[in-house]
Amino acid sequence: MATVLEQASYPLQPYKSLANDELSERIEEVRRQFGARLLILGHHYQQDEVIAHSDLRGDSYQLSQQAASSRDCRTIIFCGVHFMAETADILANRPQKLAERAGERVTVILPDMAAGCSMADMAAIDQVEAAWQDLGEVIDTSDLTPVTYINSAASLKAFCGRHGGIVCTSSNARAVLEWSFKRTKRVFFFPDQHLGRNTALKMGITNAQMPVYDPHGGDLGGSSEEAIAGSRVILWKGHCSVHQMFRAEHVALFRQRYPGIKILVHPECPQEVNDIADVSGSTSKIIQTVEAAPPGTKWAIGTELHLVNRLKHEHPEQEIHFLSPVVCMCATMYRIDLAHLCWSLENLAAGHPVNAIEVDPEIARWSLIALERMLEVK
Ligand code: SF4
Repeated sequence: MATVLEQASYPLQPYKSLANDELSERIEEVRRQFGARLLILGHHYQQDEVIAHSDLRGDSYQLSQQAASSRDCRTIIFCGVHFMAETADILANRPQKLAERAGERVTVILPDMAAGCSMADMAAIDQVEAAWQDLGEVIDTSDLTPVTYINSAASLKAFCGRHGGIVCTSSNARAVLEWSFKRTKRVFFFPDQHLGRNTALKMGITNAQMPVYDPHGGDLGGSSEEAIAGSRVILWKGHCSVHQMFRAEHVALFRQRYPGIKILVHPECPQEVNDIADVSGSTSKIIQTVEAAPPGTKWAIGTELHLVNRLKHEHPEQEIHFLSPVVCMCATMYRIDLAHLCWSLENLAAGHPVNAIEVDPEIARWSLIALERMLEVK
């Protein structure tokens, strides 16, 4: 559970009228002052101005893990979204790390508390608990493994920890499903239906074996008793508002316009897009695939706009297109701009950290159990 620990000594408003050059200089001044005690984390989907001030760039789990393994770091500024800052807090302040620092906590700051994730917000803990009970009327929930995508609130990770479940990322979703099926007949996968479906389809599970649970759909989430009884994976009705924008017609359009083009998409895109793409994979896989391609390769990439534009800039030897005629960017992450970054850093330097994210100890404990199970999966 997130708490705002301190009141701001400096209000945000005046920072909003400062020019980017001035904000950048002031951000760098605080970075110099703190040195290795401060790590600014920039998610791959973050805007370039913010990435320019980041110590580390990566996806959410990779960033949290790297920051937690730093010996010197005592403050993390996470330029991402809320669930990412929660994961960073859980990993950086887990018992083993606290013991190494003689009990000293790492403060984790989210520069704008409004930077949430639309997907994570589609599954609230009370809805998931109610669904678990509801499903228990039809199937044996001791034979059901709850799996939460890392893009979810800490309370959902804790739910998985308590019920023998596990966390997955888009890189290891298949391995996590295999781990789960060794233990139970069925999986309850939330909050992203697309990642769950696209991964399970590749394992030979059919759509008929994957009913969707809609938390607003009434009894059994709108599915029939037969569908739940015959299920292998029960998918939560959630999605990423960015990745769900990509369509099969966009793929057809790019193939027609640019013969030989390769379609590279994230598994959070709908099945209709994943089924016809040349390559589907996590953010890291998308980056590695482009890095490894020969010069002159043509790509249409279906993932967040800032990352695609950065790949275009960093790989001028390749021809990179954004796989949509409309803008698909993570609008909530975009809230974290230089003004918010500078404001949170100067308040930190003044001894009044703002927007500190501290997960409730019991939730953190159970979340860590679900995260550690994921680490055991190869
Ligand atoms: S891109 Fe989608 S899943 Fe990722 S943080 Fe933004 S809304 Fe959430």
